[in-house]
Amino acid sequence: MEKSLPKFIYITDDYAGTVFLKNSIMCDCCQKESPYQYNGPVYSVEEGEITLCPWCIHDGSAAEKYAASFNDIYDESLEEAIITTVCEQTPGYSSWQDQGWAAHCKDACVYHGDASAQDVADASEPTRQKWMRDYEQDAESWDHFMKGYQPGGDQGVYKFHCRHCDLIIFNWDFS
Ligand SMILES: [Zn+2]
Ligand SMILES: [Zn+2]
Repeated sequence: MEKSLPKFIYITDDYAGTVFLKNSIMCDCCQKESPYQYNGPVYSVEEGEITLCPWCIHDGSAAEKYAASFNDIYDESLEEAIITTVCEQTPGYSSWQDQGWAAHCKDACVYHGDASAQDVADASEPTRQKWMRDYEQDAESWDHFMKGYQPGGDQGVYKFHCRHCDLIIFNWDFS
């Protein structure tokens, strides 16, 4: 039977299926064979590539062994346990600039991956307002930047979802 991925509360199952490649590896951290290979950023003082399985990220052992983190979160009003879960026990995502993890309603948000063109076209007014506040932009710049957005281009739009009020939040950067 195929071993299923551990459950990460701050990413969707879809994103988990993207950030962990189906690839038989030997994990550097637990020294066990794994059917999945982590394919995201690792921030560590260790030199060189570290090959990791999902379980060593999930239980925090990789973060501990390599003094590593996978994400940053800049909202200091969050509980310490939430910050630890996001930074040390949640797979990261690739972005152009160093991206913080979105937070809302005193909790970290759930990451869905790159926004689709449809996600951006369908953005609600509260989502647009949040983006304008976060990036000090106005409605005109929303139209200017978001028109013609495609995932994988030189503009990154990263989709997060608040677990409490359902707001969709877009983090945003450029190559
Ligand atoms: Zn492992
Ligand atoms: Zn919220």
